[in-house]
Amino acid sequence: MKKKLIAGNWKMNGSLASNEALLRAVLDGMAQQAPACDVAVAAPAPYLAQVQALTAGSSLAVAAQDVSAHEAGAYTGEVSAAMLKEFSVRYVLVGHSERRQYHHENDSLVAIKAQRALAAGITPIVCLGETMQEREAGLTEAVVKRQLAAVIHLNGHCISEIVVAYEPVWAIGTGLTATPEQAQEVHAVLRSQLAAATEQPDRIRLLYGGSMNAGNAAALLAQPDIDGGLIGGASLKAPDFLQIIASAK
Ligand code: PEP
Repeated sequence: MKKKLIAGNWKMNGSLASNEALLRAVLDGMAQQAPACDVAVAAPAPYLAQVQALTAGSSLAVAAQDVSAHEAGAYTGEVSAAMLKEFSVRYVLVGHSERRQYHHENDSLVAIKAQRALAAGITPIVCLGETMQEREAGLTEAVVKRQLAAVIHLNGHCISEIVVAYEPVWAIGTGLTATPEQAQEVHAVLRSQLAAATEQPDRIRLLYGGSMNAGNAAALLAQPDIDGGLIGGASLKAPDFLQIIASAK
């Protein structure tokens, strides 16, 4: 049976001092109560070396928040998949809604980023989800299927190696959360879309993200097609993050 995955997304937060305090507290908690799930934290790029050093020898995996669609070369400011690999990065977020919204990343760019990650031996966590306007217009299913289809189209042969994070845009950082039933409904749609692309759709972990916290995690994680969580705000507080980890059985 596959383990659930709980991944923290620190976004553009932290400092050398606060990261160390947070990581030490999370690692202490994980040492006291061994998680039944896989755990990762996605740190800003300048802190990957610090996270790599502090988590060495532990079961806490290093994740990155983005990767370049290019392999190498004259792309100022970009970070390649090969560079991430040198810092023991195991997972990388691609297509987070904040990248889609503020950096105008489209479905095909996200698919290329997933491809770059896979080629470097890094698991892409493909983020997708609808806006409130799209949900209200009855477009949720069409939007998430379109977003996932682009990734399947380019990466079909190794699609069972990806992780998908369903993150309704209206739930990210807003305190609004999809109900467990709403989240499960979308996850079931994604699972059947994956079933058409691979013989092993159950191998693929489907995470829910969007204001998941210590109070609502257990109910969300109890849904049959929710295989973990992508956690923003609550991953910055060690007790909350540890509580979510403990809920992922
Ligand atoms: C995220 O950044 O992916 C996220 C889910 O954020 P939050 O948990 O703060 O809504």
